[in-house]
Amino acid sequence: PMQTANTIRRAFLDYFAKNGHEVVSSSPLVPRNDPTLMFTNAGMVQFKNVFTGVEKRDYVRAATSQKCVRAGGKHNDLDNVGYTARHHTFFEMLGNFSFGDYFKDDAIALAWNLITKEFGLAKDKLLVTVYHDDDEAFNIWKKVAGFSDDRIIRIPTSDNFWSMGDTGPCGPCSEIFYDHGDKIAGGPPGSPDQDGDRFIEIWNLVFMQFEQVDKQTRLPLPKPSIDTGMGLERLAAVLQGQHDNYDVDLLRALIEASAHESNTDADGPYKVSHRVVADHLRSSCFLIADGVLPSNEGRGYVLRRIMRRAMRHAHLMGCTEPLLWRLFPALAKQMGEAYPELGRAGALITETLKLEETRFKATLDKGLKLLDDELTHLVPGAKLAGEVAFKLYDTYGFPLDLTEDALKAKGIGVDTDGFATAMDRQRAEARKAWSGSGEAATETLWFEIKEKTGASEFLGYDAIGAEGQIV
Ligand code: ATP
Ligand code: MG
Ligand code: MG
Ligand code: MG
Repeated sequence: PMQTANTIRRAFLDYFAKNGHEVVSSSPLVPRNDPTLMFTNAGMVQFKNVFTGVEKRDYVRAATSQKCVRAGGKHNDLDNVGYTARHHTFFEMLGNFSFGDYFKDDAIALAWNLITKEFGLAKDKLLVTVYHDDDEAFNIWKKVAGFSDDRIIRIPTSDNFWSMGDTGPCGPCSEIFYDHGDKIAGGPPGSPDQDGDRFIEIWNLVFMQFEQVDKQTRLPLPKPSIDTGMGLERLAAVLQGQHDNYDVDLLRALIEASAHESNTDADGPYKVSHRVVADHLRSSCFLIADGVLPSNEGRGYVLRRIMRRAMRHAHLMGCTEPLLWRLFPALAKQMGEAYPELGRAGALITETLKLEETRFKATLDKGLKLLDDELTHLVPGAKLAGEVAFKLYDTYGFPLDLTEDALKAKGIGVDTDGFATAMDRQRAEARKAWSGSGEAATETLWFEIKEKTGASEFLGYDAIGAEGQIV
């Protein structure tokens, strides 16, 4: 019988419970007590203070299935959606954690036993990476998995060394990859074409064994810790005999709902649009459930950008009526049991999606018309004038990344410098005219979106440099 995403999540948590772990609920997507981090982007975020010793819990082993959003800051997978088989903006990270309890030996043995014995993955499809000088991990993998040396790849880059920030816990990591076979393009980890989708990273094991005291000093931790993260959708793809995350039962149900509600074929010309809609529906609904509402700054603007990108795809599919809110029941059916907050926030989610899409629809159609007119005199390799991109932004509510995304498939870029100039000019005018109380100043400082070349970056987050809590 096929293992559904829901049964796989359950099996993961049950396995670690059986092995002495406390099953802890996912924390919200808006991190508590961490204004420097935009969204929870890894399982360890809620345990940050436990790892540093600031906070104590009455357990030393935990397991979670954590809601994650990677749509801003250092980990921004927004532009990957629709293009790779393995990236979502919203995904679930399955993780097990040891707070000064077990370390490398047990972490590797627990992981290996779960994927090969409980889940039955074929050993000859698996390979792992270790940090280049981590002989300890190399030897444990040899012993536990019986791998030949060529299946344990030593990686010298920061991909395999994790740190929480400039100071604090840090250590090498080891990633488990699944080889989806030579029909798919891509090379093994460490090779020049490692970003292809043939070898897919499923699980990352972090060995927190040092404390970075200052730039020069790194001390061994007296009680090293473990932090792991495995993408549920990637694991489910493997277990369901699929290569692509979007063919997993859970995502597939959303894609089919999108096809049904838009009266189009799920696998026809709008295949990519359905994937984007399915992904963005999840991040939008879960963000709203955790209290984020669309707005023009900070987290709310990231949400608005995600929603509007999905709405453009609904437009491409020929939907004349708002689409997203009609897909919520399909999502609630798939994920409402594991995440009851979805059901609790159902009315708010539905109303927010409906209102935002209804409002945007009026200007979306006009803006896309303007863009089409511009396209008649732009050839591949050319750039859309910054002034036009700014007009789309200012008059029609097109976030810069939406305009970029719309032009990307046609090989056309955007003059982002010109856009920034137009934006600065308008800001200067607004400042002259403004006589507010200054109340929102802090928010704006931290969460102002700076639209930069190639990507929209989240200023407050990178500027602080404290975003390192990534598995
Ligand atoms: P990749 O190199 O494929 O982008 P990553 O190294 O950025 O992945 P980690 O930060 O190590 O990912 O996160 C732990 C696990 O979470 C990964 O091994 C993967 O299974 C999963 N994961 C990470 N990013 C995504 C995403 N955008 N969508 C779905 N799953 C993800
Ligand atoms: Mg990544
Ligand atoms: Mg990686
Ligand atoms: Mg990784």
